[in-house]
Amino acid sequence: FPTVNVLDVPFVKTTAAELLPVLQDRIINHTNTFVVTANPEIVMYAHNHSAYHGLLHTADFITPDGVGILDGAKILKQPLPERITGYDTLEALLSWGSESHRSAYFVGAKPAVIDALAKILPERFPGLTIAGLHDGYFTDDTAIVQDIQAKQPDMVFTALGFPKQEEFIQAHRHVTNGLWMGVGGSFDVLAG
Ligand code: UDP
Repeated sequence: FPTVNVLDVPFVKTTAAELLPVLQDRIINHTNTFVVTANPEIVMYAHNHSAYHGLLHTADFITPDGVGILDGAKILKQPLPERITGYDTLEALLSWGSESHRSAYFVGAKPAVIDALAKILPERFPGLTIAGLHDGYFTDDTAIVQDIQAKQPDMVFTALGFPKQEEFIQAHRHVTNGLWMGVGGSFDVLAG
């Protein structure tokens, strides 16, 4: 996809309807994929933190998750077609994953939210294999990363808030050639 730079963060100039099949193809083909859904807070944080800014440039796709990003692109006279949010992308990938019998691993949110997801996910996405569920309040990544490596899930979703969720992905995405995406507070929303 062509990209539009907003404060030197390259956003994909596309729609969710065009992006999703590309992500699905990459999952099917075991292509290592890092998706960032960036809101204005993330762009401002990257503007002030060079390591995080560098990290964003290692993502395969950065989508505009907020009208503030669309407004910025419009001012630059390079409009982006629409918002592509973390929650909508997560839900679309889980629905597709259920239909096509894919597997997903979930890291993040409070233990009670993870307990709720363990019950809700199989009901809502019956064809999806839940490769693993782990809350986001851990001090050592090692055991979780070893488990992800052992399970080789098609998709890994991190809900640790930024910058943690993207830092986790950058550090560990090499352990399985699937799709990795930080989803902010989306597990809380999924859990209801
Ligand atoms: N979270 C976590 N571990 C942490 C900090 C936050 O798992 O050390 C979770 C938190 O429970 C919530 C999610 O990260 O489910 C997103 O948090 P927040 O809404 O603060 O982040 P944002 O959506 O603004 O990125």
